[in-house]
Amino acid sequence: MKTLLVFGDQLTLENTALEAGTLGADRVVLIEARDDGPAHKIKRVFHLAAMRAFAEELRGHGWDTRQFGIDATPSFREALVAHLECERPDVLVVMEPNNWGRQKLLEEVSKQTGVSLRITPTCQFVTPRADFLNFAKGKKRLLMEAHYRRMRQSLGILMRSDGEPEGGAWNYDAENRKTVRDWKKDGAPKPPRPVTARRPRDKFVETAIADVNKWFPDSPGRAEDFWLPHTREGALEALASFVAERLPLFGDYQDLMLEDSPTMFHSMIAGPLNLGLLLPMECVDAAVRAHTAGQAPLAAVEGFVRQIIGWREFVNGVYWLKMPAYLESNALGATLPLPKFFYTAETSMNCLRCSLGEARDTAFNHHIQRLMILGNFCLLAGIRPQEAHDWFLEMYIDAHEWVMAANVLGMALHADGGFMATKPYAGAAAYISKMSNYCAGCSHDPVKKSGPGACPFNLLYWDFYDRHADRFASNPRTSMMVRSWQKRLPDERAKITAEARVFLDGLE
Ligand SMILES: Cc1cc2nc3c(=O)[nH]c(=O)nc-3n(C[C@H](O)[C@H](O)[C@H](O)COP(=O)(O)OP(=O)(O)OC[C@H]3O[C@@H](n4cnc5c(N)ncnc54)[C@H](O)[C@@H]3O)c2cc1C
Repeated sequence: MKTLLVFGDQLTLENTALEAGTLGADRVVLIEARDDGPAHKIKRVFHLAAMRAFAEELRGHGWDTRQFGIDATPSFREALVAHLECERPDVLVVMEPNNWGRQKLLEEVSKQTGVSLRITPTCQFVTPRADFLNFAKGKKRLLMEAHYRRMRQSLGILMRSDGEPEGGAWNYDAENRKTVRDWKKDGAPKPPRPVTARRPRDKFVETAIADVNKWFPDSPGRAEDFWLPHTREGALEALASFVAERLPLFGDYQDLMLEDSPTMFHSMIAGPLNLGLLLPMECVDAAVRAHTAGQAPLAAVEGFVRQIIGWREFVNGVYWLKMPAYLESNALGATLPLPKFFYTAETSMNCLRCSLGEARDTAFNHHIQRLMILGNFCLLAGIRPQEAHDWFLEMYIDAHEWVMAANVLGMALHADGGFMATKPYAGAAAYISKMSNYCAGCSHDPVKKSGPGACPFNLLYWDFYDRHADRFASNPRTSMMVRSWQKRLPDERAKITAEARVFLDGLE
């Protein structure tokens, strides 16, 4: 008999470990454990409810399924060892884990129990790990664009028969950057409520809420506020509603942030996708079909496809390429602790207050809030990358180590020294004021560069280039910023850096 282990983020019937087993002969094992690290209550409910619903689905398909419940399972490792020692299967079969530590754990447990281990290829990513390692071989720097074009070509997605990209361009970023002013000119369109928020709760969610409140009373957030689809059926419904209701405007307002619209036209599929409730190519195919049917413009569909087969696959590739050392990256030598207001949202800066409040209440922020508000703040302030990484990992409903590492340490914090980004994603208040309506309700002035009422993002932005002038002066994409800073009068520079220091000293 085989044991087919299914991790809590591999909840798909396409799981290749199941393919390696035989119905009626082999046993599927799912383990709910209490030692999976800090997490927002909404995220915990999501994981528990999804696992329980999947276990029932497996039984419905005839699989003999053993489920370790959270009440009896303080430790994942101990539960797995106990199972293997009691049942002595011929082999433990697992689909490639999504997490480096789990891969190690499996190897150790196999050694400890003497049960041999068979790893089957993942179905949750399009790019095989070995293929990405090959693509990265010998390169000092990896750019997402090269990976993305390669994927478009090899998969034939949005490609013409002459081998050129559909529409003649590889990306439509310029069309996908509408500002607040553009949005108002367009009549200020708002997205409909996500379809899943309109559905009643099932027994899996109800019991998950009770268990989370029992075992994790001190985790951030409220379990009762859970809102995502936790079943395959719900995830497919959410994908379909995104394609029909939001995708047509997804591109236009992809980078826009609005105080009273926390989701904008984003898909909110990262949670289900990262648990295996959706698979990447079905999301891509659904978007491309909408374009072919004339229901969504090319710029929006290309923008969405780029996120899935471009960014998502790319950050996963970087994770497996660089682990475990990547998690310790700190190329800019940032040492400041994460301010406590990241948990309370109590800050006078409205952009931070709104984004952090949404993270606390819903376990979600959309990409530009993550990158250009929260990540940008941590980058400019010099927050220790590992603290920022752990906060993001704890707070978001779609967070997993494989996706967090490159997004936080590489993209947002430049902690990998520019391995995957040619320049830091640093922005001053002018960017936030152009791309959001946060500044209108803020006590800080985005136009003021220093002095009373000046937006701290302005102080921090120039202080950042001052602190790292040597590094960024030699980079063609940032040298202009350094020169423009250094051309200012010494008194002006001293005033800004002194005010930045006062702000940073006052953070805690
Ligand atoms: C600091 C920071 C933290 C992030 N944390 C996470 C995280 O915990 N989990 C996570 O899945 N993504 C993370 N991302 C990437 C991205 O912000 C989220 O995938 C996205 O905001 C999820 O919302 P959505 O499903 O509405 O995505 P959409 O904007 O609708 O995009 C569609 C899909 O594309 C994929 N995608 C888009 N951008 C990325 C990216 N940079 N990396 C990986 N996949 C991407 C996701 O699967 C997403 O669902 C992070 C980015 C940054 C800068």
